[in-house]
Amino acid sequence: MKIALLLAVYNEQEALPFLWEETQAVLRKLPQEQFEYIFVNDGSTDGTLGWLKQLAQGNPAVKVISLSRNFGKEAALTAGLAEAARADAVIILDADLQDPPSLIPAFLEKYREGYDIVYGQRQNRRQDSFLKRFTARCFYKFYNVIASRPMPENAGDCRLLNRRAIQAVLALPERERFMKGLFNWVGFRTAPVPFTRQPRRAGKTKWNYWQLWNFALEGLTASSTIPLRLWTYFGFAVSGFAFLYAVWVAVQKMVYGNPVSGYASLMVTILFFSGVQLISLGVLGEYLGRIFIEVKQRPLYFIAEKINCD
Ligand code: UDP
Ligand code: MG
Repeated sequence: MKIALLLAVYNEQEALPFLWEETQAVLRKLPQEQFEYIFVNDGSTDGTLGWLKQLAQGNPAVKVISLSRNFGKEAALTAGLAEAARADAVIILDADLQDPPSLIPAFLEKYREGYDIVYGQRQNRRQDSFLKRFTARCFYKFYNVIASRPMPENAGDCRLLNRRAIQAVLALPERERFMKGLFNWVGFRTAPVPFTRQPRRAGKTKWNYWQLWNFALEGLTASSTIPLRLWTYFGFAVSGFAFLYAVWVAVQKMVYGNPVSGYASLMVTILFFSGVQLISLGVLGEYLGRIFIEVKQRPLYFIAEKINCD
């Protein structure tokens, strides 16, 4: 069997030597399988590409795809999957060893049992800060309430896909690729493998909170239209309430002759509903912007260089 290890790398020169050491140590214990590496260099600006080139020299099992600039992990993984489509299965790991290579034999075991997708499920997130854990938890809870297909919590991109699962993911044409959502959406027989996520071995994370927030928005808008439709019901509810309130005000005035109280309640109402309207417009905008990106039909990435690829 031919198994591809897929690694998206962006400025990982510090982490790569550790990654190579540790994965090789694991692969040596699995001589019955034929492995290849697919490194997707996502427009690194440090010595990553040079290091990969050196590694690939005289080592045909190391394939390198170098993108023309930084397109983001989702695009890099898509480029790698296209290359991996000839393998029997692909295993996606992070280059910083946060997904330990010891998962490889565990994934392969499930794969042999006949599962199409095997994903690593984080046991605990003790490595993450409190804020990261809290926000991640909120995201998954909210996602699973509104998404058309709920997603297992704490499953990252780290997973094995067999050939038909790879083909299925590649058949999805969207430009905005929330990979976790896509892996989950295609279905097939799926099994989790619990693991403890390690601290990053070297280098620094490529994500800040603003990027994570935008990533979350991408995931939510890509997987559900409920945020758009919510406003219809909210509108009905508010209109109904306003009608009852109007009746109440009229009765107060005409039957009891009470003066209608003014400025403060007016001000609060106007500000509240202006806010609500802007939010609903903003939600519309989120979807509209994404429709715009989709209709442009731009390629997901450009490849500047390929090494050892067929
Ligand atoms: N990555 C990438 N392109 C990017 C950002 C990240 O290919 O634009 C890769 C990165 O090199 C690493 C993986 O995606 O192999 C996960 O990134 P990181 O460790 O920074 O994310 P975190 O683990 O902090 O969520
Ligand atoms: Mg990481």
